[in-house]
Amino acid sequence: MPQKWGPPIKTTCSYCGVGCGIEIRKSDKGKLTLKGDEQYPVNKGMLCSKGMNLHYTAMDQSDRLTAPQMRWSRRHPLEEVSWDTAMQRAAAVFKTFIEQHGPDSVGFYVSGQLLTEEYYLANKLVKGFLGTNNIDTNSRLCMSSAVVGYKETVGDDAVPISYEDIELSDTILIAGANPAWCHPILFRRIEKHKAENPEVKIIVVDPRVTDSCALADLHLQVQPGTDKYLFHAVGQYLIDQGMIDEAFIRQHTNGYEQYAKEVKGKSLKEYAAICQVPEDDIIQAARLIGQSKGFITMWAMGLNQSTTGVNQNLALINLNLITGKIGKPGCGPFSLTGQPNAMGGREVGGLANLLAAHKNLANPEHRKEVADFWGVESIQEKPGLTATEMFDALKSGKMKAIWVICTNPSVSMPNARLVDEALKAARFVVVQDISKNSDTAQYADLLLPAAGWLEKEGTMTNSERRISYLPKLLDPPGNALPDAEILMRFADKMGYHGFDFESMSEVYDEYALLTKDTPIDITGLSYERLKIERSMQWPVPAPNHGGTPRLFEDGKFLTPDQKANIHTTGPENEAEPISPDFPLILTTGRIRDQWHTMTRTGKVSKLKKHIDRPFLEIHPEDAAQRGITEGMPVLISNARGEVQVAARLSTAIKKGVVFLPMHWGKKLNGDLNRANNLTSERYDPKSKQPGFKFSAVEVVPYTAP
Ligand code: SF4
Repeated sequence: MPQKWGPPIKTTCSYCGVGCGIEIRKSDKGKLTLKGDEQYPVNKGMLCSKGMNLHYTAMDQSDRLTAPQMRWSRRHPLEEVSWDTAMQRAAAVFKTFIEQHGPDSVGFYVSGQLLTEEYYLANKLVKGFLGTNNIDTNSRLCMSSAVVGYKETVGDDAVPISYEDIELSDTILIAGANPAWCHPILFRRIEKHKAENPEVKIIVVDPRVTDSCALADLHLQVQPGTDKYLFHAVGQYLIDQGMIDEAFIRQHTNGYEQYAKEVKGKSLKEYAAICQVPEDDIIQAARLIGQSKGFITMWAMGLNQSTTGVNQNLALINLNLITGKIGKPGCGPFSLTGQPNAMGGREVGGLANLLAAHKNLANPEHRKEVADFWGVESIQEKPGLTATEMFDALKSGKMKAIWVICTNPSVSMPNARLVDEALKAARFVVVQDISKNSDTAQYADLLLPAAGWLEKEGTMTNSERRISYLPKLLDPPGNALPDAEILMRFADKMGYHGFDFESMSEVYDEYALLTKDTPIDITGLSYERLKIERSMQWPVPAPNHGGTPRLFEDGKFLTPDQKANIHTTGPENEAEPISPDFPLILTTGRIRDQWHTMTRTGKVSKLKKHIDRPFLEIHPEDAAQRGITEGMPVLISNARGEVQVAARLSTAIKKGVVFLPMHWGKKLNGDLNRANNLTSERYDPKSKQPGFKFSAVEVVPYTAP
């Protein structure tokens, strides 16, 4: 009997922050098929290799957790238990630690892959009821420098533009990002725009020649960590040549004079020497920017994942501000989020230093407002521990228990062996996930089966502030539950009120009410409306409001005086210095067809065809100096650890720099494929985002012991 297919259901891809629309159908035999949603404004029917294969990961139940598992002590193996037993134990342990050691002895580490409603509930639970701000997220590892950058310049964590601005721009500066691999559908939109408009210019700033450079009119192959100086050099040239918007600067900004002084502090020749790019190329980039009518700056991890990530963000956003290229068609700064709901998580206060609805944890009025709204006495003033701080606190014993949701820190955190030690040292580890095989799951005292994509209902926000609705299509396997349901059951066992929601629309409505009269007001966007319209960009302050594709069109920013701040960047926070023992700079990143720690994409054989194993990209001259040839096994090491993979010789990487993909954990070769054995947990002092893009290492041919 041929299978009968049900009607197409519209949903959103659960991988990257582009947030493509998908049409998915289920057959009466339980099979799934999908295609890009042709009506969806983000992708207009297109999907990348990861999105096209998403249904296989949803159908493959081989590694799914289907029942709670618990161990009574570290000497005992995990055994299946009922949800009631699991939640009772979790509540008993958390209550005990809070009573004996205070609320800061516990914490939650969550993920930009949670739905907004789940993220909101986790924040409400931790900040409002457990009484600690110890909730942080893996978005700390990808976006927190951009959050600070936006707050310090435009006054709030508000990405000003939309994807449709790409088609209205004539110059795009892509810095520290490889959208051809990491945000492929966005890249295809840029590609199409340039193909149809040959006058469009693309400038790429990256220490590697990536696939994104195929589109570049100019590639500035900077020394890692020097981007700020490059942007300052461009700023200086624009000022000297009168290619700035003086009227805009006068009417809509503060801080220009100090900025001009700072960028003139070095000559173009000096900047060129620091960045290791030709002075003429800097001038050419500056001219393209100065002559443009629509100028977009676009960036991702290359700038954010740095010990000086905030400064790099400020220096880049300054270029939009001094040229007045913000709040206008085809203009603006545009940070690309890595995860599908990194933006939604920020909206609900999903970082240890944020409050829901973009309210400010440092502001006593905001704390009182949120506490009153949640019906609790108060919210702690002290920011919680951030990602790396949390694992340090576990290792030192200051924190006793951690609850990890929907993320795999044993692979994804910097200095991963330290994270393993921290998870071993923790007195109680809860891991809530869809997969029983994640490297983090092995440390669990309590393993909770969560529902995955298509198995629950909720919303997400993509990189352009677009909130989309994801319906439930499938039942989760076995006794797995939606993350929101798990959190509500835990809250119930803790005896907390305010978590008795009947549906996700009730959770959404509560959160939406908290956004009233804030810059991210979505009180005009109900679930009913979302189900009909599919998606809309915040703010949406009234039911008849059509959403906001572009911010700051009136020249009014979200600072107290409504002027944007052009920032000086101050002294640099040093990255780990290279040394005679460790003379090479390691930078890590993604490959085209894998996602994060491969717990989903790793299950799809088609996606392994592109690249099926980790490798070290090294310049042929660096390789020759070390007697390394193509394909040879090499050992990459520093004081934190070592990695052993095959060498790939390539002139695409700068001399003195090596590249490792970040996806592989302990499955292939012990932990010797795990790039984060080597990365440093040094972080930016303001954003606390770790500097994955700069660690000192040495590489030698590997000889088996
Ligand atoms: Fe999914 Fe991102 Fe690919 Fe779009 S570009 S299909 S959101 S992974």
